[in-house]
Amino acid sequence: MNQTIASSIRTIPGHPKPGINFRDITTLLENPKAFRMTIDQFVQRYMDQNITAVAGIESRGFVFGSVLAYELSVPFLSIRKAGKLPAETISQSYQLEYGEDVMEIHKDCVKPGDRVLIIDDLIATGGTVSAAIKLVRQLGGVVVESCFVIDLPDLGGSKKVQEEMDCPCYSICEFE
Ligand code: 5GP
Repeated sequence: MNQTIASSIRTIPGHPKPGINFRDITTLLENPKAFRMTIDQFVQRYMDQNITAVAGIESRGFVFGSVLAYELSVPFLSIRKAGKLPAETISQSYQLEYGEDVMEIHKDCVKPGDRVLIIDDLIATGGTVSAAIKLVRQLGGVVVESCFVIDLPDLGGSKKVQEEMDCPCYSICEFE
């Protein structure tokens, strides 16, 4: 684990509710050395994997994903909460702790056979990224891997996504 990156992430106890330790990546983004190391680590991993698009999950996945797409010289695709994307979309619902939410992607943004890398800041239960994987696959894209700055392995999401979605997960840091 890269200590410069891991130690740049702030923990907020009790956010958004008691008992949760929120991992705050705004402090990583405010630290140019840590931000550059994070992007460089992703670039090193994916530069030779024939990635043809990077799909970022709203909203913190946009911050890392857009820079990564720029560095890899491939399109950046937006996966957003329902009702935000202006053109024709497809939707996928996913479970939250209480209730459910819906993610959308523009119908025309994935080209059949595209080799897509999905990115978000953090994987917890894996519900959010599983919805994103389904959206990309429904449009004919191949999800090469899903990647994250942070994995919370105790919540089992990365294991579940690898086993049940048959999609590799890569993360730079792990936290309890
Ligand atoms: P999952 O669907 O895997 O349970 O939750 C992952 C989603 O929730 C990601 O989009 C992520 O941004 C957000 N999330 C959940 N917990 C945290 C946290 O502690 N820190 C940050 N930065 N995001 C979180």
